[in-house]
Amino acid sequence: MGDLAWARRELGCGPDATRRELRDAYLARARELHPDRAGARAGAAAEFARVQRAWEALCGPGADPALGGDARAAAAAAERQRAAHVEVDLDDLRFDEAADAFLSRCRCGDDVAAPTAALDAGVDTFSCATCSLRVRVAYERVE
Ligand SMILES: [Zn+2]
Repeated sequence: MGDLAWARRELGCGPDATRRELRDAYLARARELHPDRAGARAGAAAEFARVQRAWEALCGPGADPALGGDARAAAAAAERQRAAHVEVDLDDLRFDEAADAFLSRCRCGDDVAAPTAALDAGVDTFSCATCSLRVRVAYERVE
């Protein structure tokens, strides 16, 4: 928890932020740092990489147990989820213009968000904010 204070700071969230709030903050930051908006601003890509790491640390497999149960259960679940991620095709996702992200309906009923900024940065695996399921987005990179 304490060691994830940096991640919350990165997303601009306080210690009481819910997963939903963390996800909204993550998406907002991803939007800000998208190359289309941030342009060639120095450091935007590095900043985005930090935001992505912060998000994964908070809501990805092995995430802060304070958000999802006790540490051992979280670690076990993370291990299972690492092995069992699902593959989706980018064409099968819905595009959410407001979030500037592709959304995939998760098994838990929530949406897994794949921000275009992350996809542009070469990130292809995203975590559900609710159940931590990993979703790998299959897409052709256009060089
Ligand atoms: Zn889920």
